[in-house]
Amino acid sequence: MSKGPARNEKLLKDLAKLIGEKKVSNKIPDLISYSHDYWPISFFWFLEGSIPSMPDVVVFPESVEDVVKVMRYAYENNIPIYPYGGGTGVLGGAVPEYKGIVIDLKRLREIKIHDYDLYVEVGAGTNGMLLEMYLNKKGYTLGHFPQSLYASTVGGWISTKAIGQFSTKYGGIEDMLLGLEVVVPPGEVLHFKPNPRAAVGPDLKRLFIEAEGLLGIITKAYLKIWPYPEKRVLMSFGSDSLEDALNSVRNIMRRGAKPAVIRIYDKIETKKWFYMVKKAKNKVGTIIILEGDPVLVEAEKRIVEEEFSNAIPLGEEPVKYWLEARFNVKELSEYLPLGIVIDTIEISVPWSRAVDLYNDVINAMRSVKGTLLAFAHASHFYPQGVCFYFIFGGIPPKESSPVEYYREIWRVTMETTIKHGGAISHHHGIGRMRAEWIMQDLGKPTFSLFRKLKKTFDERNILNRGNMGL
Ligand SMILES: Cc1cc2nc3c(=O)[nH]c(=O)nc-3n(C[C@H](O)[C@H](O)[C@H](O)COP(=O)(O)OP(=O)(O)OC[C@H]3O[C@@H](n4cnc5c(N)ncnc54)[C@H](O)[C@@H]3O)c2cc1C
Repeated sequence: MSKGPARNEKLLKDLAKLIGEKKVSNKIPDLISYSHDYWPISFFWFLEGSIPSMPDVVVFPESVEDVVKVMRYAYENNIPIYPYGGGTGVLGGAVPEYKGIVIDLKRLREIKIHDYDLYVEVGAGTNGMLLEMYLNKKGYTLGHFPQSLYASTVGGWISTKAIGQFSTKYGGIEDMLLGLEVVVPPGEVLHFKPNPRAAVGPDLKRLFIEAEGLLGIITKAYLKIWPYPEKRVLMSFGSDSLEDALNSVRNIMRRGAKPAVIRIYDKIETKKWFYMVKKAKNKVGTIIILEGDPVLVEAEKRIVEEEFSNAIPLGEEPVKYWLEARFNVKELSEYLPLGIVIDTIEISVPWSRAVDLYNDVINAMRSVKGTLLAFAHASHFYPQGVCFYFIFGGIPPKESSPVEYYREIWRVTMETTIKHGGAISHHHGIGRMRAEWIMQDLGKPTFSLFRKLKKTFDERNILNRGNMGL
């Protein structure tokens, strides 16, 4: 048992007795580590020297039985409990707002490949990169590459409805999910079998996708896998306008081709990713990766070339550069301490509203006093529409604090998205940051139903209390 100051010693002792001394801690460094996730607001707390959400105890279960024991204890004693994966969520979804127990799932990390049936059975705490490396060694891929791959976990992916950079071919985590094991209050284990499809009542396992730890604790998942791609083709193009590039991709989608990666950068962001290509000047750059069976890849290549015939081909260099740099993420920790506030906001919208929404959000961000830069890329595509990923940076004016400036940018972006009928989140989820707008996005009756559902699953509201506004 890790010894810390006399902070809720009874809780620590009880939990140690239940699951073992080596699986519990109330050491101050642990409590601080688990007091936040990757939400910029929690960075601001650190910069101000405050820790408003320190848990009482952190537990590290090593089996589903451990999770059941902790859940039962929390339920019987009415103690809040917060599931924690990699802590890479960017909206405060894992912040232990009401103190209590943080349950870190990372020791649940067994991996078993079922290669004949083409799926993997994997512990919810398994690290994304380690899972992908393991699959690659055996000749497979999951096809799921969120930018946080090195630090996020399977349970976190499902709980936030994550999506990876290769989504146009492989889909989001919801498309990969075949089955689940979940512990729900007061301590029941639900098991959803990994069948290819089932029509046996409503598909209840889907309730846990983007439930952000409010309905249960995921302990295991069954995910689809693919043979490692035989062939890969890299392409890039420069279009005259964002509208032209979006139209090319819309047509590719309509024809049923599925490039693994498509990323359209607006003119500002094109400067970053196409800096080495002179012809990209003043263009909207698109990078594309095709992969898989050589016959399919060849057919898709033809479709892409046809649909981008109104653009200039810009070669492989920008794509190679992106492949090298795609997991580099250090801006937040570099800029925030310097007083420069930066963040990203993703939303989705049908094709018919895409260009208008892009223009309105960029203008709304720029209209907030202090903004230095606002730009975007589109990086996930569907026959019906697109996900935009907005990036902003600014120095708060004298009259407002960094947090006030930050919240104002979020407010104008959320309101503009709602005005256009878009979804206020495409893949980061709601957490504590977007809770203010969830009812507006879903509508009051739907949100009330969600509230009832939460009450049915968790009548004492022990699971991630306060998250998503519940
Ligand atoms: C630099 C960076 C890049 C990112 N890029 C992407 C990206 O490309 N695509 C994308 O989708 N997201 C991205 N994200 C966001 C984040 O990585 C994802 O939301 C990821 O799915 C979170 O996983 P995690 O294991 O870190 O979860 P955590 O942050 O630990 O938790 C997220 C939420 O899920 C709940 N939770 C965690 N594990 C469980 C479980 N086992 N059972 C029940 N609830 C659980 C938590 O309570 C919390 O509400 C990025 C984040 C960062 C910091």
